[in-house]
Amino acid sequence: MIRSNKKNLTTVILLSIFFLLPSKLSAASPTGSSIALYEFEPAVSRNAIEQLPSTEKSPELTALLAEPTTKEISLVRVNLDAVKENNKILSITLPDRQEVPFVQDYFEITAEGTTVWAGAPPSDRRQRFPSPSEVKRDPLNMLFIQHYGDHVRGEIRLAGQAYRLEPAGAGLHALLKVDQGQTTCEPVTESDNLPATPAPTTNRAARSTITYLIVSTDEARKKNSLIEERIENSMKFAQRFLDNSDIDITFEKAGYYAATYSENGKTSNTVLRDLRDTSAEPGKSVLAERERVRADIVIVAAGLVDGTSYRDARKETAFALVKTNSVAEEIIHQVGHVLGADHIWKEGDPEFEPPYKFGYLMNFMGGTKGSNTLMGQYENCGGCGMASIFSNPRETYVGHPTGTVEHNDVARRFNERRTEVENFY
Ligand SMILES: [Zn+2]
Repeated sequence: MIRSNKKNLTTVILLSIFFLLPSKLSAASPTGSSIALYEFEPAVSRNAIEQLPSTEKSPELTALLAEPTTKEISLVRVNLDAVKENNKILSITLPDRQEVPFVQDYFEITAEGTTVWAGAPPSDRRQRFPSPSEVKRDPLNMLFIQHYGDHVRGEIRLAGQAYRLEPAGAGLHALLKVDQGQTTCEPVTESDNLPATPAPTTNRAARSTITYLIVSTDEARKKNSLIEERIENSMKFAQRFLDNSDIDITFEKAGYYAATYSENGKTSNTVLRDLRDTSAEPGKSVLAERERVRADIVIVAAGLVDGTSYRDARKETAFALVKTNSVAEEIIHQVGHVLGADHIWKEGDPEFEPPYKFGYLMNFMGGTKGSNTLMGQYENCGGCGMASIFSNPRETYVGHPTGTVEHNDVARRFNERRTEVENFY
């Protein structure tokens, strides 16, 4: 059911595009028309890429081919000049040759000199649902490109399906269709006799800045030599999810630390504990670096083990573990546990404290399975779409609330905990 639902949604988008865009979409031309972000190279399938001589397969491409989350892969040549502020429409061609235009809704030149271009397919959603509570950006359809001089990182979401553009060496990029249903998540609950979590601060600033330290393991660096850039890029993309959910947090990178540490033969929980155990290495050095750069939370990139995190973390446990190939949704999901949010609450489940800290299954998305907000897990709904918003009953998507006051209000949970977390350092 959910698949046909996605198809219907795609059809709606495409019809909207058809009626809203008068000109041919693929032509490279001045402002007002669309410019293709990339062209396909001759090797457009996994088979074709695998059969390339090994001299033509860069270490980056070999690593991407080996990732279990790589559902489909094509080689493309990105038009780096296209990522400019005055190019208002960029067109993307998917592996099935479907072409989708995206209209710019955000542009930034960062302090480091990278360029960020973000947009969405043309849509009349805001006209059809004019309520001020309707979410500003479509959480299922978006494009986010960051340009780093000689390469880009791109995130594409269409009807909840994730595609990524990753540098693949030799001046080329790989377009990946991502299988998001591979990972499970069991955050760690501390069993020690700890003091109760302090009551949420009511006297808080209008906005909180939460700083993070990125830590990589030996295996993470082996899998992705640009892991620091990869995680920072995902957090920048995820910032849009928070902004769209009315959460007053700005995430800011405090630093990066390459830990001398192997995950080999260890579980997720062991890796997480080793990196925060300040009585021995590598935890000692991680703490020293965390204190030096004053990072409120730590995001550990792992090459072998699955993601996990400490639920409802204290300063000492504010660690989230993510895989090198995680999409932004998975990274912010683990950070979300640290901030005190949990998976989906459904009718009949027991009550927890606070009862509203859960993600939301948006049944209104159609079918019997609906679509999860960001704290959901893919297996909750048998492979349903992931909407890139946090549950919030005060906001609507296509006219329906994206949470409930009683059980599904992660936006409230984050806004109540953000002052405590930003004051960790
Ligand atoms: Zn989780």
